[in-house]
Amino acid sequence: ELHLSIRNVSKTYPNGVLALDHVSLEIPKGMYGLLGPNGAGKSTLMRTLATLQEPDSGEITLGEINVIHQKAEVRKTLGYLPQEFGLYPKAKAEELLDYFAVLKGLTNRASRKEVVTALLKQTNLWEKRKQKLGGFSGGMKQRFGVAVALLGNPRLMIVDEPTAGLDPAERVRFLNLLSELGEKSVVILSTHIVEDVSELCTRMAIINKGKILLEAEPLKAVAKI
Ligand code: ADP
Ligand code: ADP
Repeated sequence: ELHLSIRNVSKTYPNGVLALDHVSLEIPKGMYGLLGPNGAGKSTLMRTLATLQEPDSGEITLGEINVIHQKAEVRKTLGYLPQEFGLYPKAKAEELLDYFAVLKGLTNRASRKEVVTALLKQTNLWEKRKQKLGGFSGGMKQRFGVAVALLGNPRLMIVDEPTAGLDPAERVRFLNLLSELGEKSVVILSTHIVEDVSELCTRMAIINKGKILLEAEPLKAVAKI
């Protein structure tokens, strides 16, 4: 079964900050929480998994794929939802999603239409499909980001601090959407909010100053904090 393996990954930035210090994690399919305060190294690890930067040392594999050395292979099967979804205020939701689908290699118009329609419905944006992203609320933007990330059925979904700025109703909606995904992919949710992890994730790790302090089931871990 699909499995993400992170072994002894370290990263020091040019300014001397040790952002990841021999990080090792074995992550199965499902929702996995990475919990830590600001500056802990979460984004560094997320960007590394998303092939946006390389570690100084260590190994990362997703199933048979070497994540550090086979970037193109990873990217085919990766969904990445950054902290803030890069916004194109003048683009309309459906048109932009269709455009991203083209970039993902969906060249057949009819099948693209089918995929785009399904994703807009799944993320509850179907009614808003003709509207410009500039008028979207924070939660709508996040859900649009999920729709983009879901193009191409990712086996690895990286979600970096997603619930900041969402109102409670939007937050629940968004997290439910993610947990559906966990049924078929490895989903890693990076956050500093304990509840995001305790409510949804089946496994979790706590990171601080680049080190993994604890790896456990959320309820047991939260009891220890
Ligand atoms: P988190 O996402 O948990 O807030 P980050 O991975 O962003 O943590 O940061 C970990 C540490 O590395 C922090 O001390 C941060 O200031 C530092 N850092 C992050 N990115 C860079 C960078 N590009 N150059 C130098 N230091 C960085
Ligand atoms: P986070 O910690 O949640 O990743 P930040 O606001 O710290 O968010 O980082 C935003 C951007 O600034 C990132 O691209 C990160 O690499 C960079 N960055 C963070 N800390 C530093 C730093 N100390 N020196 C240089 N760049 C940094």
